[in-house]
Amino acid sequence: MGENEPPETEPPTPADCTRCDELCENRTQIVNGDGPVDASILIVGEAPGANEDSRGKPFVGRSGDVLTDALLRNGINRRDVRITNTVRCKPPENRDPTMEERENCFPYLFDEIIAVDPVVIVPVGKVPIEALLDVSVSVTDISGTCITKSFGGRERTVVPCLHPAATLYDPGTKDLFNETLRKIATITGHTPQSQTSLDDY
Ligand code: URA
Repeated sequence: MGENEPPETEPPTPADCTRCDELCENRTQIVNGDGPVDASILIVGEAPGANEDSRGKPFVGRSGDVLTDALLRNGINRRDVRITNTVRCKPPENRDPTMEERENCFPYLFDEIIAVDPVVIVPVGKVPIEALLDVSVSVTDISGTCITKSFGGRERTVVPCLHPAATLYDPGTKDLFNETLRKIATITGHTPQSQTSLDDY
């Protein structure tokens, strides 16, 4: 670590947050961010699902497999990426987190952005895109665009992306998902392994 670099310490995480009654009642555990604190890429998902709730790590189910595979095809090892969520507790019945839940959890995400200080922030899906950019848009329309947004008094690059699960529901979105990750790889100096699309998963 250089003299002027920030310390590489884990961002403050909620050990036993009780801000959202319904989420507290339903969760097995809080799912905090995972991955290096000095990562150049910070991926922000929506909220934990059942797999994440039971294992305590983000994106460890089917969506996580899609994400890990797509990152690798673009020369990015998941081990080098920080992955977190907009809301850290599993919503019941897989519902979207409410606006109140997103607001309650936002300070933890903000602290993580400041601590990790990534080159690029990648919100995947509508919930994190809305939470980070304060806009209501079509995810497809905004995917892959580079947006400058200030967090903590510092301009940061945000590249919205489809949620990996979208490629499972609608295989027609695989190319856009892959193109967005390719752009993120380019911005962060990674080299895609091949020019293939994601048609074989
Ligand atoms: N989907 C998300 O948005 N986050 C996870 O952690 C898992 C699935």
